[in-house]
Amino acid sequence: MNQAESERLEALLESRGYLPVPGTEEADLIIINSCVVRRSAENRALNKLMLLRHLKKKCPEKKVALTGCLVSDDLEALKQQYPFVDHFFKAGEKFCFEGITDSDPGELPAQASVSSPVTIIQGCNNYCTYCIVPYRRGREKSRPPAEIAREAETLVVRGAREIVLLGQNVDSYGQDLPEKPDLANLLEMLNGINGLWRIRFLTSHPKDMSLRLIEAIASLDKVCEKVNLPVQAGDDEILAAMGRGYTAEQYITLVESLRKAVPEIALTTDVIVGFPGEDERRFNNTLRLLRRIRFDGVHAAMYSPRPETLAAKKFVDDVSKDEKKRRVKLVEEMQAEIAGVINARLAGQKQEVLVEGRKKGRWYGRSRSDKLVFFEHSGNWSGRLAPVTIENTSPWSLKGRIKQ
Ligand code: SF4
Repeated sequence: MNQAESERLEALLESRGYLPVPGTEEADLIIINSCVVRRSAENRALNKLMLLRHLKKKCPEKKVALTGCLVSDDLEALKQQYPFVDHFFKAGEKFCFEGITDSDPGELPAQASVSSPVTIIQGCNNYCTYCIVPYRRGREKSRPPAEIAREAETLVVRGAREIVLLGQNVDSYGQDLPEKPDLANLLEMLNGINGLWRIRFLTSHPKDMSLRLIEAIASLDKVCEKVNLPVQAGDDEILAAMGRGYTAEQYITLVESLRKAVPEIALTTDVIVGFPGEDERRFNNTLRLLRRIRFDGVHAAMYSPRPETLAAKKFVDDVSKDEKKRRVKLVEEMQAEIAGVINARLAGQKQEVLVEGRKKGRWYGRSRSDKLVFFEHSGNWSGRLAPVTIENTSPWSLKGRIKQ
């Protein structure tokens, strides 16, 4: 979401005559787009801000703006804390500063990326006990389907071939709109756009994923066979303490329904290790679930208490940093083995790769199931669909070639 918002800001500034420069030293205007989802991300943003404080002392004429989830409702406190910041605006809010006014629905890049993000819903109503996002991005606010379709069409005219629908919880899309369209309706509508080849969406919430949505993934040809479905933990007591609204068994049943409807679906997930009260037994329940489901990818993160959240107020952060690190490592090692086996099955198969660019003399892009694929070829494949026969696989990427 932050990356998508940064791209839009970049497009807005370029449309007003600004040019990108290599670093802050050369810049007239610097915008920090912050993330505070974990303490490590917040520290990165704070370090950047400290560097800017020195720079601003040296060059007071430079303008500094701060956005993203570091910007809370308490602007007065922020102004006191960061007096060298000239402008604060909340995540997803329009940029109006230095005579630049962002129009509605915002500026689109003149040259769209092959795979372009489109925000469909902002905010979240879930209040998972560990998560700061609802406090910073507010409650769910969906964009009307017609506005999203117009944006997708414009992006396609400007070069996009795939759109990635974004939201903190895309599965509850539309519930706040008068006609209550859902994500399945939206996918159906976007599936009809000429020149658009692929549609993806993230992130899903297991408790909000409907059968209608599963049917839409199965039946709409442009919707790719890949879902990111964060499980966060495989232990029912931890899931309840997190306020996730499902049990491990209910999650497994949902995965079974997805796999039944779309047998070739690739699944990825997010896991938080070291949530308060996660002892060895409870952590092992998470490992057991990961082993049972066999995801294509797992993103494991260490729990860190976020201010304002219920978990930070109610629970003691009782798992040591070293233990959290050990658990992340265990998850990653197990996952590398599982993904290695899953990807090895693709050897010899032809994958349709949407080519995004070239790196170190090789073309790269993604398969429909979102696997990163590299191949060498003398032709120009940029923005095209390449039929790549997979020859080498690893847990993280695939390599192949185009057979003549
Ligand atoms: S659904 Fe996601 S964004 Fe919303 S509160 Fe839970 S973790 Fe945070």
